Amino acid sequence: YTAKSEKTGAVMYREAMNSDGAAHLLLLGDLRRALDADDQLSLHYQPKIDLRTGALSGVEALIRWRHPARGMVSPADFVPVVENTSLINSFTVRVLRMAVRQAHEWLVAGNAVPVAVNLSPRCLLDSQLTDKVTEQLRSADLPAGLLHLEITETAVMADPTTALVTLNQLRAAGILLSVDDFGTGYSSMAYLKQLPVSELKIDRTFVGSMDTAPDDAVLVQAAIDLGHNLGLTVTAEGVETKEQLEALGALGCDTAQGYYLARPMPAADLTRWILARSGVPALSNDQHPR
Ligand code: C2E
Ligand code: MG
Ligand code: MG
Ligand code: MG
Repeated sequence: YTAKSEKTGAVMYREAMNSDGAAHLLLLGDLRRALDADDQLSLHYQPKIDLRTGALSGVEALIRWRHPARGMVSPADFVPVVENTSLINSFTVRVLRMAVRQAHEWLVAGNAVPVAVNLSPRCLLDSQLTDKVTEQLRSADLPAGLLHLEITETAVMADPTTALVTLNQLRAAGILLSVDDFGTGYSSMAYLKQLPVSELKIDRTFVGSMDTAPDDAVLVQAAIDLGHNLGLTVTAEGVETKEQLEALGALGCDTAQGYYLARPMPAADLTRWILARSGVPALSNDQHPR
C-alpha cells in the first residue's frame, strides 16, 4: 500500500474525528454535497419487538451514507463530526424528511409503524426544532404520534434548561420521546424524572454482557425497574442472542431491538419483513407508553 491509498475511505474519516484539519473539512464538504444529492443518503430501519406479544412496536431509522468514491461510511464515522457543526441542522431536517415520508408510505399501505429518529445533542439547543419537525410532519401528512425522537442523557445535561424547553414543545406537539443509550451518559435521576419522555432504551453495552457479567445483569434489572417506576416503556438495545432475549423477558423488559431479532434494513426489505411475519400481528395493541 502507498500511504495515499491507505488514507481512503473510513480511515480518512476516522482521522477527521480527531482533528479540525484537512480531513475534517473534506468530510464536511463531502457531506454538504451528499445533502444536495438525492442518491447518497438513505435510511435503514431496525424493528423493535414487543416482548410479550412478539409484535412489531416500531422501527428506528438509522442513517446510511453511500459516498460516491469511498463507499459506505458508517454513522459512527461521520455523525460525531457533523454534529459539532452547523451542518447538523440541514442534516437533521433531511433525516426527518426521509423518515416521515417513509412512515407515511407504510401508513397508507396499512401499517401504522412508529418511526424513531435519532437527534444529535445540538438539535435540542435549536429553538426552531419543533417548528422544523412539525413542518415535516405536515408536509408528509403524518400524525405526530407516529414519529418518535431519540435523545441522549448527555444531550440534556449539556444545557438542561434549554433542552427541557425544546423537549416539552416536542411532547406538546404529540411527538413521543425516548432516552437513547441509557446508562452510558451522566444524568441525575432528578432530571430523568422531569423529562417528558415515554421510553428508556438501555444501551447495548449492558445488554451484550448480561449473560457473562452478573454486574451488568444487575444494572439492566435496575434500569428496567427505574423506567417502570417512572412510567416508561423500557427497550433493550443490541440483543444478539436467544439467551439475552429470554433473560430480558424474565426481567420484565417491554421491548427489544437487536441483530438476533432483525438487522437494520432498507425500507423495501422492512416492508417484506412485515409481510413475511403476517400471522404475527403487524402491530402491538399496546404500543403506547403506560
Ligand atoms: P444508536 O441510536 O444507539 O443506534 C443503534 C446502533 O446499534 C445502530 O448502529 C445499530 O445498527 C446498532 N445495532 C443494532 N442492533 C445491534 C446488535 O444487536 N449488535 C450490535 N453490535 N449493534 C447493533 P449504527 O446504525 O451504526 O448507528 C450508530 C449510531 O449513530 C446510532 O446509535 C446513533 O447514535 C447515530 N446515528 C445513526 N443514524 C443517525 C441519524 O440519522 N442521526 C443522528 N443524529 N445520529 C444517528
Ligand atoms: Mg438510537
Ligand atoms: Mg442506542
Ligand atoms: Mg448511540
